[in-house]
Amino acid sequence: MSDASLNNRVFPCREPTPDELEHAIEVAHRVWWVGHHFADDPFQCHPYLIEHGDQSVLLDPGSVLTFDTTLRKIREIIPLESIRYFICHHQDPDITGILPSLDPLITRPDAVVLSHWRTNALLKHLGLKKLPLVCVEDHRWELDLGGRRLQFLFTPYLHFSGAFCTFDQATGTLFSSDLFGGLSKDTPLFAQDERAFEAIQFFHEHYMPSQEILRHGLTNMESLPIRLIAPQHGSLIPEHLVRFMFDRLKSLDCGLFLLTRTNSDYRRLSGLNHMLREMMQTLMVQRDFSAVAARILELAKPLIPVTDLEFFAATESGDTLHLAPESGFRGTIAQAPAACRAFLGMRRDHWQRDQAGPYLIVPYTGETRQPNGDPIRMMLILPLFSPQNDTVQAVVLFRLRENLDVDEEMAHILTQLSIPLGVAVEREIIFRVMDMEQKKSYERSIRDPLTNLYTRYYMQEAVARLCRIHDRDAHASITVLAFDIDHFKSVNDTYGHAMGDVTLRTVAHIIADSIRGVDIPVRLGGEEFLLFLIGSPQHVPPAVANRILRRVESQKFESPMHERVVTISCGISYREINEPIDKTIERADLALYQAKSTGRNKVVIHPGHA
Ligand code: GH3
Ligand code: MG
Ligand code: MG
Repeated sequence: MSDASLNNRVFPCREPTPDELEHAIEVAHRVWWVGHHFADDPFQCHPYLIEHGDQSVLLDPGSVLTFDTTLRKIREIIPLESIRYFICHHQDPDITGILPSLDPLITRPDAVVLSHWRTNALLKHLGLKKLPLVCVEDHRWELDLGGRRLQFLFTPYLHFSGAFCTFDQATGTLFSSDLFGGLSKDTPLFAQDERAFEAIQFFHEHYMPSQEILRHGLTNMESLPIRLIAPQHGSLIPEHLVRFMFDRLKSLDCGLFLLTRTNSDYRRLSGLNHMLREMMQTLMVQRDFSAVAARILELAKPLIPVTDLEFFAATESGDTLHLAPESGFRGTIAQAPAACRAFLGMRRDHWQRDQAGPYLIVPYTGETRQPNGDPIRMMLILPLFSPQNDTVQAVVLFRLRENLDVDEEMAHILTQLSIPLGVAVEREIIFRVMDMEQKKSYERSIRDPLTNLYTRYYMQEAVARLCRIHDRDAHASITVLAFDIDHFKSVNDTYGHAMGDVTLRTVAHIIADSIRGVDIPVRLGGEEFLLFLIGSPQHVPPAVANRILRRVESQKFESPMHERVVTISCGISYREINEPIDKTIERADLALYQAKSTGRNKVVIHPGHA
């Protein structure tokens, strides 16, 4: 072992000095970094030497740009002739570019290039004379160096169909090729902490084809006793960061290359991609639409000058549902602004015919202002198409502080986003319409449609509650007034059923108009009404009853009933503490019966139990 080797022993993972980087660096026991450090290059390439006597191995040799340095460093440790195996994890020029120049230097007859058959199929075209191409598959995916065993792990499509990695069992070093590789402005030889993942993320996100494929590769190797990851690019990963990097990489957003047609700003693309994923996830897990909207806003804010967002959606009944921050996204029936009204219900091919992109930016026409009082200048309108009939079922309206140029990537994001967002909005429309239907049907069940007074159903619910209060508090008194129209049958008989209905409505209106909000007017059925006066002192109910009687009596009706004087009779009972309300009503009825039998158009008060 040479002096240099003793000086440059850095494991476990001390960052070498610039001077040390000029030499081979021992990163694990008899595993050497023999790379050429490029100054000011975010893309560092690392060849490694496994020093094992005359069975030594060089992994990912390098190119004409780096190999002079690599050869010098190898020779600091061992003569080139000691290397028997040249492992190439895939065929890229930064790994294999040197092979044609290296080939003439080879003197031992058993030296080979070891690679996957797909790689060798390409390397054949280098026309090497001395170095035969041997397939890892023919080696049963392992290599016995004599007392040291290397294991090969197939990682297809990460990023080449024949890509693989190498695991050195003796030191627990995973030579991970492009996996775990990093791209960053100043790459330390060793990752220092978890922040190093950022460099890995940028490197992987744009070209790793899919999370499934990436996971497959990672799952195959994470059970290995890895003590060091030695990737071909970026920083080596020491043992304490191995688990963390595996976990982060397994959940990486892959497929960013889909967005990279015009833009190579990976940082920004990564941001956009991240936003898209987050939104998808939010839409999937959040049931509360206001939370969905808040999350979308939060994610969109760093990308566009948006102050808020609202939705207009067409319902099946032809209404437009408005979901906006001002109403807590609860959904109200409202008209969409003119700028987007025309889009609701529009077919996709018509949108595509009329609009240049998947969105539209126009001046904002609403009343709302920014939270700081400044006006909202523009709005970005994004249509959401119904998957059923491919028409615009809703529009999202992003309120913008200022104008905005949407580039191709942003347009792509918006298009992608509009699909899950459409599903979320559709789900919300169903909920909101159901809510409104429920409210309507509840209203129907508590209101009599002819007179709009409360129904017997509502009375039972409300009065039971009031009785419980009265039982505890004598001041919360309940007085029952029972009304019945006098000779109503003859109104029907003389003027017809329709005029009978008019009479019922008129009397009901007079009753409802003569009381306070807390009192409860009920149409019990036919031409019988109950009125519950709540918390009234004893002298009030007869006064209210008489006022109602006088108003009915003096009510003028239209022709042909203009001559007719309608009167009503009233019985009153005061509820006693703990008295069942049915009993109180019964007593009011008894008093009413007495009013009828003693001349009608009068008020009779039931004397109570006493
Ligand atoms: P009394 O002074 O004793 O109360 O005599 P009345 O004719 O008012 O008494 P009765 O209970 O015999 O008549 C009630 C009539 O009310 C009979 C029924 O046809 C009529 N009626 C009940 N419900 C309605 C309704 O919804 N619309 C109309 N137009 N008539 C109704
Ligand atoms: Mg009657
Ligand atoms: Mg009657």
